[in-house]
Amino acid sequence: MQLTKATFEQRLVSALPGEAEADQGPRQVHGACFSRVRPTPVAAPELLGWSQGCADMLGLTAPEDPEAVAAVLGGNRLLPGMAPFAACYGGHQFGNWAGQLGDGRAINLGELIAPDGGRWELQLKGAGPTPYSRTADGRAVLRSSVREFLCSEAMHHLGVPTTRALSLVTTGEDVVRDMFYDGHPRPEPGAIVCRVAPSFLRFGNLELPAVRGDRALLERLAEHVLTELYPDCAGPRPEAHAHWFAEVCRRTAVMVAHWMRVGFVHGVMNTDNMSLLGLTIDYGPYGWLEGFDPEWTPNTTDLPGKRYCFGNQPAIAMWNLARLGQALMPLGVSEAGIEAGLDAYRSTYEATFPDMLAAKLGLAQLDDDALVSDLFTLLQRVETDMTLFFRNLAEVQLAADAPAASRLEPLADAYYSGPPPEAEVLGWLDRYAAALALQGVSEDQRKARMNRANPRFVLRNYLAQQVIDAAEAGDTAPLSRLLDVLRAPYEEQPEHADLAARRPEWARHKAGCSMLSCSS
Ligand code: AMP
Ligand code: MG
Repeated sequence: MQLTKATFEQRLVSALPGEAEADQGPRQVHGACFSRVRPTPVAAPELLGWSQGCADMLGLTAPEDPEAVAAVLGGNRLLPGMAPFAACYGGHQFGNWAGQLGDGRAINLGELIAPDGGRWELQLKGAGPTPYSRTADGRAVLRSSVREFLCSEAMHHLGVPTTRALSLVTTGEDVVRDMFYDGHPRPEPGAIVCRVAPSFLRFGNLELPAVRGDRALLERLAEHVLTELYPDCAGPRPEAHAHWFAEVCRRTAVMVAHWMRVGFVHGVMNTDNMSLLGLTIDYGPYGWLEGFDPEWTPNTTDLPGKRYCFGNQPAIAMWNLARLGQALMPLGVSEAGIEAGLDAYRSTYEATFPDMLAAKLGLAQLDDDALVSDLFTLLQRVETDMTLFFRNLAEVQLAADAPAASRLEPLADAYYSGPPPEAEVLGWLDRYAAALALQGVSEDQRKARMNRANPRFVLRNYLAQQVIDAAEAGDTAPLSRLLDVLRAPYEEQPEHADLAARRPEWARHKAGCSMLSCSS
C-alpha cells in the first residue's frame, strides 16, 4: 500500500476534550488535552530518508511518487481522515516543575490503520508553530532530525522499546540556531521527521491537569489511557488506574535496563520526555557510551549536576514514575497503590538487568555479583569502549593454557589509550572462565548468547555527525548505508567494519561527536 492511499482515523481527537483550531499564538491552554492545529507548509519538501523497516510495520510499500509522499510528510498536504493536533502537557525538567510545555513543534497527523489492524500515530516533528511553541519557531534542524531518524530505528533493531521513524524530509527552508549557545546564531537547513508510535502520550500529559487541579480533565485522560493503552487493566476504579500505573512502571524498567545494556544515554529524562507506553521518546542530545563511564552525560545543559548521566538513569526513571504516581492521586489512587507500582519498577529492573548482564557475558545467570562489579571497575581504569569490549570478549580464548598475548589480543581494539595492567585482565578472565565452567556453558553457547546481547554496531556519536556533514553537503549515501547497517546490529557485516570502529581521536572534542547542546 502507498502512504497516500492509507486509511487514517484520530480516536484521541474524538474521545478527549480539545481546543478547536484557533490562530491565537502561544498561550496557556486550559480544559483541553490538545489543540487542533495544522502543519505550516514548507517551501520545498524533499524526501531525504525513508525507513522501509518502519514502513513494513505500517504495511507501506516504498514510495512510488516521492514528491507526493514528501508533501504529506513535510506537512504540506493532509490525507483524508487526518485530524492534526498538538498535545497539551507539562513536565518536571531537571527535577523542577516547569508548568505547561506541550507539543511545541510536533504535530500528530492521525492514526494510520495498518492492513494487519495495527493503529499507529504519525507525528511530524518540526512541522511549525503550535499554541505550545512559547517563544520558539516550531521547526527542527537537519542535524537533530538525522539524529532522531537514525537513532529511533537503530534502537528498535537493537531490541530497545522505542518510537519509530518513517521518514526524514528536508524543508528547503533555513532555521536559525545558536548551536553553541555562545551568541552566534546561524542559519541551518530545516527538516521534519515523521515519528511513529501507538501513542505519544507522556507522563506530563497527566501531570499538567493534576497540578492545575483540573480533576475532570485528569479523569478523562486517565480513562483514555486505561481503555486505549492498557485495556487488560480494566476493572473497578481507582484500582484499575493503579494497575496500569504498575504496568507503566514495569515497561519503563525494561526500557531503562535495555538502555544500560547497550550503553545508551537519553540525556534529557524530563517527565515530558517519558512515554506512557515505556518507549524511548524524544531523541535530543542523547549519546552512546564510548569510554565506559557511569558519570558520562552527553548533554552540555546537564553538565553542572550530571542528573541524566548514564549511571543515574535507573534512579531517575523511578523518580519520574513517582511524579506520574503523584498525578494519579487526585483520582483516588492510594499511596499504597503507587508504592506497589514503584515496587514493580524495582523488582522488574532487578529481575531484568542482571539477566541482561549475564547474557552480555554468555552466562546462564548471574551468580557472582563481584564478577560484574570488578569488570566494570576494570573498564573504568583505562578508557575502554563498552561496545567493543563486550562484543570482542566473545572472541577471547578462555583456556588458561592459551598464551597471554592471544587471550588479550581481541580486546586490544577497545582501549582508547593503551590497555590496563595485563595481570588484572588475565586474573579477571580466569574468574570468568571458572564461572562459565561452573555453569557448564560451552564456548559455542557462550559466543552465541553474547553475540545476541552485545551489538557490533551502535549509532556512535561521531558516525551520526559524519552522516550529518554529508547530508548537509547534499550527499545522502552515508545516511542510507548507516541506516541499513543498523538494521542488523548483532551481525558481523565485515564489509562495514569501519562503522564499528571506536571513536577516532579527531572526534574526541568535535562538536556533535562528543557532547551536544539542546539546540535543535
Ligand atoms: P525537548 O527538550 O525537546 O523535549 O523540548 C521541551 C519543550 O520545548 C517541548 O514542549 C517542546 O515542544 C518545546 N520545543 C523545543 N524546541 C522547540 C522549537 N524549536 N519550537 C517550539 N517548541 C520547541
Ligand atoms: Mg520533549
